[in-house]
Amino acid sequence: MKSNTIAAIATPMTNSGIGIIRISGDEALDIIEKVFKPKKKDKKIKDVKTYTAHYGHVYDESTLLDECIVLVMKGPHSYTAEDVVEINCHGGVVVMKKVLEAVFKAGATPAEPGEFTKRAFLNGRIDLSEAEAVMDLIQSKNEFAMSTSLKQLEGALGKKITEIRKQIIHSVAFIESALDDPEHYSVDGFSDELKDQVEVIINQLNEFLENADNGRILKEGIQTVIVGKPNAGKSSVLNVLLGEERAIVTDIAGTTRDTLEESIQIKGIPLNIIDTAGIRDTNDLIEKIGVDKAKDLLTKADLVLYVVDTSDPLTKDDEEIMELIEDKQTIVLLNKADLDQVVKVSDLKEKGFEQIVQISAKEQTGIEELYQLIQDIFFEGHVSFNDEIYLTNMRHKTEVSEALKSLAMVLQSIEDGMPEDFFSIDLLDAYEHLGFITGESVGEDLVNEIFAEFCMGK
Ligand code: GDP
Repeated sequence: MKSNTIAAIATPMTNSGIGIIRISGDEALDIIEKVFKPKKKDKKIKDVKTYTAHYGHVYDESTLLDECIVLVMKGPHSYTAEDVVEINCHGGVVVMKKVLEAVFKAGATPAEPGEFTKRAFLNGRIDLSEAEAVMDLIQSKNEFAMSTSLKQLEGALGKKITEIRKQIIHSVAFIESALDDPEHYSVDGFSDELKDQVEVIINQLNEFLENADNGRILKEGIQTVIVGKPNAGKSSVLNVLLGEERAIVTDIAGTTRDTLEESIQIKGIPLNIIDTAGIRDTNDLIEKIGVDKAKDLLTKADLVLYVVDTSDPLTKDDEEIMELIEDKQTIVLLNKADLDQVVKVSDLKEKGFEQIVQISAKEQTGIEELYQLIQDIFFEGHVSFNDEIYLTNMRHKTEVSEALKSLAMVLQSIEDGMPEDFFSIDLLDAYEHLGFITGESVGEDLVNEIFAEFCMGK
């Protein structure tokens, strides 16, 4: 089927070194013939080899627009699996717009956001999880998010899901055959076999879901709140933590108007430290923003760092804080370890705290231990960036959960001694839900919705 040829500016709409206009479709080469004059007069772009670059000038009819380099990538071995041409011109906003206009005049139509990647999917070059990984890769906020998207882009998740779907459809096919042709296929003992198989699949999918939380944490960062009474050393602790990776500290608008989030990475683990902007005035979370807000802030926290001054007896303030953080994943930082100890580790153990690290923000001791503890708590001491498949996309997580529900029904039907065609219905349901991840069973609406999130020119 002939598709229309699309074009868009693929680089940001701001003045920059290079601006790229991307064209994809059956007429990409015809269009470039019309707007581009190679330096070598006798060169015909239609005849050049794929994956080659060509120097020349781009024109709007007879008007010279820019000098440029044209890259030719012929289908099916291109990003979209169609003929793709990229015009690398000078990155001025006006230049890029003019070149795009000329390309439209020559026959291209404007691309929708994400349409290049959508074509790669629709043309079967990548599955939907790989297409989504492209977007995740672009939006990666840290190294982990980047490496996990890259892995998904290489098809790790899609392959695994396809494998599971194959096993499921194989069983369905067997049931159907046996029901159609009982003389040749016997279902005797089949339910035991199916039970084993479904259990294995359930375990695999459950593992995905368990990893999903770690995946989310790594992708989004551990929401961390530092609490402690005035002068315990909260700001000093924060500064030590920030100092570790000063270069990649960023300020993001926080969850409430009074707060800021500072994102840091410790041994590859991203921590979003929720810092209350006004806190610096009084140095007291509760006093400054009130108990309700502090509670609200704590609800969203994955981790609380409770700073206690070891040289100063515990007070009513500490009691109040302890009450607030009662149910939270907490690490007590017994700070000022360089001074005489008034509050001891055993005192905090008595109060029910288990994770206690003695540190000195001033002398920067105990910090390594804190990092190790964070790894232990969230990743059982080991963050794996390479081996595991992390389900970081909410949509994928939902589909895996739905598939699990259907598979649980299969087990239930087996247990209840239901007839085999009952198994098929739920197996097919699970098959379909998993197909939503790879895109094999998605409808057009969902596809459009997913790609609408993409950037222009991608
Ligand atoms: P905050 O009110 O909890 O934010 O506490 P600050 O970080 O402002 O620290 C209060 C005081 O304690 C400051 O004078 C710090 O220099 C001091 N301080 C912080 N950490 C240490 C430490 O580890 N050892 C010592 N000796 N002093 C510290």
